[in-house]
Amino acid sequence: MLLPALATTPAKVALRFPGHELTYAELASQASSVAYGLVGSRRVAVWARPDVRTCVVVVGALLAGVPVVPLNPKLGERELDHILTDSAPDLVIDDLLPDGPPVDLPEPDGEAPALIVYTSGTTGPPKGVVLPRRALASNLDALAEAWEWTADDVVVHGLPLFHVHGLGVGVLGPLRRGGTVHHLGSFSVAAAAEALETVGTMMFGVPTMYHRIAASPEHASAFAKARLLVSGSAPLPATLHERLEALTGQRVVERYGMTETLMNTSVRASGDRRPGTVGLPLAGVEVRVVGDEPGEIEVRGPNLFLEYLNRPDATREAFVDGWFRTGDLAVVEPDGYLRIVGRRTTDLIKSGGYKIGAGEVENALLEHPGVAEVAVTGEPDEELGERVVAWVVATGTPSTAQELTDHVARLLTPHKRPRVVRYVESLPRNDMGKVLKRELR
Ligand code: ATP
Ligand code: MG
Repeated sequence: MLLPALATTPAKVALRFPGHELTYAELASQASSVAYGLVGSRRVAVWARPDVRTCVVVVGALLAGVPVVPLNPKLGERELDHILTDSAPDLVIDDLLPDGPPVDLPEPDGEAPALIVYTSGTTGPPKGVVLPRRALASNLDALAEAWEWTADDVVVHGLPLFHVHGLGVGVLGPLRRGGTVHHLGSFSVAAAAEALETVGTMMFGVPTMYHRIAASPEHASAFAKARLLVSGSAPLPATLHERLEALTGQRVVERYGMTETLMNTSVRASGDRRPGTVGLPLAGVEVRVVGDEPGEIEVRGPNLFLEYLNRPDATREAFVDGWFRTGDLAVVEPDGYLRIVGRRTTDLIKSGGYKIGAGEVENALLEHPGVAEVAVTGEPDEELGERVVAWVVATGTPSTAQELTDHVARLLTPHKRPRVVRYVESLPRNDMGKVLKRELR
């Protein structure tokens, strides 16, 4: 059973959003009505606003065994057209929740599609990822083991609900454990701090949130109290990890995942929380790094998706001998910890006969006091094949291109230094805070 707590802990608070709270019994009853109304649908979409209704619809669809497509409520016309045309739902659920007379609802098979989640579209048009119940159940249990996550945990949540981070880990995670989701509606450092002061035990966030926390020393004591602060969806710079530790005494736990695989690796709650690393494979998940380092991460295990919707070509290309090719590049440390250096398509720069991971250069640049944010890309170069380019958002402390170049050449092997430094006002990012490198070029 995917969500046993719906029946076993009726009086406990399952979901808390600003001004709205549901116990497990209330969630079970409302979700069942939705489920009865959905029986017979082939596929539904939901406007995934950060509210209780979105969670009720998703749980209802899971009870009915109807795959649900969470939609980003801020999608533009073109993006919405792509996703609705591709997923062709029978119904798009907005304000009016479906309901119907009670019918018998057997627990669907583990291989049945549960969610169809679109990838973030960082490297191309978003692809619909069909996730079975088995992937959700096994991955949430593996995370529980890694994070010592129990029914007593209250997860402070400020992420959107249309990706696997916010919806899968952030909502279905606590619901599978029988714990509580404490959603802030939208993230603010003050609201997260208040939640952690009062009820929260864990917080899930993306690096941009941790940037904001690091810039708010007045709230440091609240974050110091958390049992676990977790970061994912994009790299957490090592310098930020260290700044947070200096400020709060907390070492953020980083995990690495993607829509197609849910979570693959994580630093354990009881493990060594080393900056810049995403830890070890989760229980049941096999991870290998192939080719010369940095090599591509490949994954196998019960956490994998079924297919890309309507994209048999892309699905076929994504697998080699049953291993899923993540497109992400990593270096493996002697104790098996993974250090992610970027993506094969955008972050592997082949310069002067060397393979350079953009992430490593970005981390080095972030250690310079003049660099607030940075993205490193490769650009065609007659002599080198490709040259390393740094796109820098400066801090108040001025720096010259030469200083930054020398700084990298000192920290890393000199051929990894940027040949070009471009100062920009800001970096193009999506709603999860991921840098859209293709827009930089
Ligand atoms: P698209 O596949 O459409 O280009 P996307 O890959 O960004 O978009 P997601 O599935 O939301 O879509 O994101 C997964 C990716 O996020 C991973 O492949 C990886 O590149 C990145 N990622 C996730 N967690 C981490 C992390 N802890 N450190 C570095 N990168 C991470
Ligand atoms: Mg991807």
